[in-house]
Amino acid sequence: MKTQDIMATLQAKYPGENEYLQAVQEVLESIEDVYNQHPEFERAKIVERMVEPDRIFTFRVTWVDDKGEVQTNTGYRVQFNSAIGPYKGGLRFHRAVTPSMLKFLGFEQTFKNALTTLPMGGAKGGSDFDPKGRTDEEIMRFCQAFMLELWQCIGPDQDIPAGDVGVGGREIGYMYGMYKKLAREYNTGVLTGKGATWGGSILRPEATGFGALYFTENLLHHAGKDIKGCKVAVSGFGNVAWGACIKALELGAKVVAISGPDGVCEIPGGIDKEMIDYMLVMRASNRDRVEDMATRFPGKAVFTPGKKAWSIPCDIALPCAFQNELAEADARELKENGCWCCCEVSNMGCQPGAIHFFQNNGILFAPGKAVNAGGVATSGLEMTQNAEHISWDAKEVDERLHFIMKSIHEQCVKFGTQPDGTVDYVKGANIAGFMKVAQAMLEQGTI
Ligand code: GLU
Repeated sequence: MKTQDIMATLQAKYPGENEYLQAVQEVLESIEDVYNQHPEFERAKIVERMVEPDRIFTFRVTWVDDKGEVQTNTGYRVQFNSAIGPYKGGLRFHRAVTPSMLKFLGFEQTFKNALTTLPMGGAKGGSDFDPKGRTDEEIMRFCQAFMLELWQCIGPDQDIPAGDVGVGGREIGYMYGMYKKLAREYNTGVLTGKGATWGGSILRPEATGFGALYFTENLLHHAGKDIKGCKVAVSGFGNVAWGACIKALELGAKVVAISGPDGVCEIPGGIDKEMIDYMLVMRASNRDRVEDMATRFPGKAVFTPGKKAWSIPCDIALPCAFQNELAEADARELKENGCWCCCEVSNMGCQPGAIHFFQNNGILFAPGKAVNAGGVATSGLEMTQNAEHISWDAKEVDERLHFIMKSIHEQCVKFGTQPDGTVDYVKGANIAGFMKVAQAMLEQGTI
């Protein structure tokens, strides 16, 4: 297998699908050497099969806004790979959603889910619906219209969606209500991220952020460092950033910045509990503006329009917002300002130039598919609880999450340790995830 040849074929077949091509290239580059030591993979054309989604559903979603006007969006579900379990992955509602974006996310999800130690295949879905400025009623009508089509494609042993950007507990609730009405079954296992009183797992809302900090702790310990007292810059202010801020504070770090599409809020004294709670209010408002934090806490947060979190001096950078949010120029600025570690929490949050810069300049770096896997892992734990018709307490879920993040870190170390003793976490995560999926595909024959 030659990465270049496969990429040339995919580029010709899917011109302009840039996020998808970027995600595939990153994985193929990391696994090429290991793959070529396995002629049985080559014979079965594992890579050629793995880069293509099993199937993509595309559907029209029509709904009526508050003014009585008819609106039409496009909905998708990309079922990428089911070698190690039923399709599993979130739904993204964002104006920029395209098949390319969901293909990249579904592809990443396949490897991420393989790392969790749980039996879950990879999928992703969503819509180009833009929640910004929409009322709660509009969100509900959209979610119901979306589920009217999606419900035929999903099931507890088939495909289990959850949240992602623009989809949180509120949206999962509206979608679950509609699913239940259509299916005439109280099938809790069909969606994860549900409310705690109707089948949701305790700690699922916090899990992506908590898991990211557990991974970061493992990585720092491995490098002989400690998170206590470190200054942390976080991008975004949604569910993932919220969970990351709670745990960072608990572990004794100081979150000195959060950001949004409008700019950055510098928080010189470090974020506190009240401000973290306010992130939830900001998310529920659908205004998509981080400036609201500075307006609400004028003495604590200073807003600068048009700037990213990466302009604020910090030790650790945690991208928690969107793909490609951290460019090479940002990586350089981070280094100049003293940053020595970046744990990518968003899916493909760092551009390839930024990753290479970190790696070539001795800055500790770990990729999203390892760092953020605590979210989907806790979705897996929610599925187990649903299947057993029980719910675990916070201690049990948190212990399992700790174990899973530790194990993901160990897999990265096992497959990513370089001759000089440093760990290439990108290679480690990609090879570990790939080997598991590839082996399962091989054992299940040519299908
Ligand atoms: N959207 C999250 C992710 O990127 C969670 C998916 C899930 O819980 O199924 O992994």
